[in-house]
Amino acid sequence: MTFHILTIFPKIFDSYLNESILKKAQEKKLIKIKIYNLRDFAGGKHKQVDDKPYGGGPGMVLKVEPIYKAISKLKSQISKLKKKKMKIILFSLRGEKFNQKMAHQFSKLDHLILICGRYEGIDERVAKYIADKEISIGDYVLSGGELPALVIIEAVSRLVPGVLGNIESIEEERMLNFGILNQKSKFRIFSYPVYTRPAIFSPKPGILWKVPKVLLSGNHQKIWFWRKKHGKWI
Ligand code: SAH
Repeated sequence: MTFHILTIFPKIFDSYLNESILKKAQEKKLIKIKIYNLRDFAGGKHKQVDDKPYGGGPGMVLKVEPIYKAISKLKSQISKLKKKKMKIILFSLRGEKFNQKMAHQFSKLDHLILICGRYEGIDERVAKYIADKEISIGDYVLSGGELPALVIIEAVSRLVPGVLGNIESIEEERMLNFGILNQKSKFRIFSYPVYTRPAIFSPKPGILWKVPKVLLSGNHQKIWFWRKKHGKWI
């Protein structure tokens, strides 16, 4: 699985992608992440990637040409490869809301191209003629598509076999046994509260924060009954 990110701020990705699970997944060659600076595809002396909106209004708009050039180059590179199942995603507030089901669908692809907007957005012709899908990660305004790109990379990578190791699959098997998971709910997640040592924590004299007794009981039937009761499907 290769993620291709088109951005005007490539350095944003340095720290996050070089830690923890995503770092290991890249080292193990389970995923590949390629970052392209849109400025490298901009023409003219000033390598201008943005311009004023037609019709007026505040802010700047990312131009269509550099994005078209970058995507054309990428597409022709991918077409020469053996594995070429791909999707081009554009981040936009008007897009379809990202969810776990979409993450599953994307995890089956060979290439996911992510176009990060900035400023007032991206020339609409990118959505109309270039991208396959517009995605929003929620109803709030961010300053760019870079965080949404990281969100999608992380959610999708976790579903690529091997990325989480076998800890998760053992847990999944246990959840199947206790009826928390079934075929129908494959694309949904059951999230439940968790605790760890100490069993009793005293933040101040006379105050005790206790772990629910049932979790210390060793009775797996009862433990899963408790988790079902206090957990939530998302
Ligand atoms: N005024 C613009 C918002 C621009 S925000 C509008 O009304 O649409 C700048 C860019 O950040 C957007 O083009 C998009 O690529 C990205 N972005 C901001 N919030 C986002 C969100 N919740 N989900 C996905 N992308 C987002």
